[in-house]
Amino acid sequence: MDLRTLLSDVVAGHRLSGEEGVFLLNTSGRDLYRVCETADRIREEKVGPVVTYVRNQNLHLSNICKNLCRFCAFGKSATDEGAFCDDPETIRQKVRLAASRDVSEICLLSGVNPEFDADRYSEILSLVKKTAPDIHIHAFSPDEVNHAATRSGITTEEVLVSMKEAGLGTLQGTAAEILVDSVRHVICPAKVSTAQWGRIIQEAHGLGIPTTATIMYGSCESPKDRITHLSVLREIQDQTGGFTELVPLSYLHQNTRLYLEGKAPAGATGREDLLLVAVSRLFLDNFKNIQASWGKLGVKLGQMALLAGANDLGGTMFSDDVSAEAGAGNADFLDPAEMLRMTNDIGRILSRRLTNYTLVDDTFPGQS
Ligand code: SF4
Repeated sequence: MDLRTLLSDVVAGHRLSGEEGVFLLNTSGRDLYRVCETADRIREEKVGPVVTYVRNQNLHLSNICKNLCRFCAFGKSATDEGAFCDDPETIRQKVRLAASRDVSEICLLSGVNPEFDADRYSEILSLVKKTAPDIHIHAFSPDEVNHAATRSGITTEEVLVSMKEAGLGTLQGTAAEILVDSVRHVICPAKVSTAQWGRIIQEAHGLGIPTTATIMYGSCESPKDRITHLSVLREIQDQTGGFTELVPLSYLHQNTRLYLEGKAPAGATGREDLLLVAVSRLFLDNFKNIQASWGKLGVKLGQMALLAGANDLGGTMFSDDVSAEAGAGNADFLDPAEMLRMTNDIGRILSRRLTNYTLVDDTFPGQS
């Protein structure tokens, strides 16, 4: 396979096959820059120079989790030291704090608490909505939807309907990790299967609930597994158009069992991080938005990802206990002023957005 020919075919509109995607992910040396440059060109054609971010806040409501995935250092058993589950008043206080920070989006991030059923999820959503009616709620994963359905003896579609009625705006495309069952068996055996994840996501899209798409790469999957994962996402997007963006999540290894037991390397390399973003831009021809996840990559590599096909910096977050527990430093809050420094430095335009990528147009007037 000739790299230059393949990249020029992609620019001309060729849809990459799985085999071609794997070939691109295996690029090394200065060819890496050729792949990134092509991804950057396609990003420019598709979305122009604007780099978006959303002013949001993560709320961690419980770290008690039935899954205890091997790649995660956040989830705990109920009897573990440091296990917590917020009561309604604590949730209210956290939501009020988020509202005082002028966020347009609240992300509810928790473990899959074994005690939660469909009613409990809806009660939480209603509480958040009642406390901050104007803030968009981006919450829960297909795995939590599946857990709620099992606990309550109803279908996952019924859970989604009740979540939507209670205030859910968008569902998180988390719990995807790597959508290859043999990999899931090693890193997150208690989670929904690939087929279940895809079905629940499509049910959400069918009900008018958009979702993000994620990929958690850099643990023990192969380049072929990464492309298989992207193929699942591309196929769903062809059918529903319901994914708002891809959020690549680089595996943070330090305090995770998977790494400590010698079953995974110390995360992805910088080459792999940039290529994952670039090849996602090239492979996912039906996605508009690809995120540079500064909480996982750090600010400097995150900036480079903006030159490798990414067009979004995600959220301000304010807190990210999931990354912090896994050993990430400075994963809590990125000031939009620092985002502006990152984007000015590479000749791009920063703009605040809402969850659905509507631009908030009074941001940073006069930026260079
Ligand atoms: S990744 Fe999510 S589901 Fe898995 S252990 Fe961590 S909190 Fe629980």
